Amino acid sequence: MNPALTQMPQQSLRKHPAALTLHAELKHRPLPLILSPLRSLISHHLIGLLLATLVAPASADALLRNLEIAQCADGELATWGDGQDRMAAAGAFTFSYRHAGAPSWFKEPQVLSLLQKSAAEWSRCGIPAQVMVAAPSLQSSRGNVVVQWDAAGSGGHFGLANLGNHQLSLGAQAFHLLNQRNPAHNALDTLQMVLSHEMGHFYGLMAHSRRCVDVLSYYHDGKGGQCFTRNPGLLKAFPEYRSSLPTACDIQRCRILNRIP
Ligand SMILES: [Zn+2]
Repeated sequence: MNPALTQMPQQSLRKHPAALTLHAELKHRPLPLILSPLRSLISHHLIGLLLATLVAPASADALLRNLEIAQCADGELATWGDGQDRMAAAGAFTFSYRHAGAPSWFKEPQVLSLLQKSAAEWSRCGIPAQVMVAAPSLQSSRGNVVVQWDAAGSGGHFGLANLGNHQLSLGAQAFHLLNQRNPAHNALDTLQMVLSHEMGHFYGLMAHSRRCVDVLSYYHDGKGGQCFTRNPGLLKAFPEYRSSLPTACDIQRCRILNRIP
């Protein structure tokens, strides 16, 4: 059995018997408690002060993480093998957004803006995408993905890509829980990551990445296996080490599986 499926709550497996095409939940590591890597600003104070004025609140740690996001070195394209990568279902995508049911702290223009950002970054794979507000009567179809807040469709997760129904479902309940546990956390960052991650499944990245920083990553496989990173010591320095947008390795894998040179 696909290992990713075995990690899904039984409830969502029951709800989605055809789960091989629905496997795309985003596993989130325990919710962040520390939000500011002050340690690095102190230990690298000269660089840190300079950077703080240029790209606040960046730090030397953030620079290292950004470098890892921007590069994909030999040997870093590795997955958990929990899914079969395949070509995207369409040569171009339209993501149409329905705001009904969103948590009150997300405004429609904000979510649209995040969607546009994720789509723009994924277009580096060579597959164009556009984002729009969904017309009330719109039906999803191949290449026309409806993005909506849907408790059942999200299976209790932050997000779930349903490739069979061409729907990207977002889970308001998970975001309410995040807000309860950590109200200071910028939930827009998490939403950006969820959108980018689930979009990646539509682009054909079905397996989850073993490289911690990739937006398609899982941090661990639930059986003792851990993701890898160039900077293991930094994993805890960030509330979320995983990128909120596709990394160089996410894009490279996307181009390979879609046979785009
Ligand atoms: Zn996933």
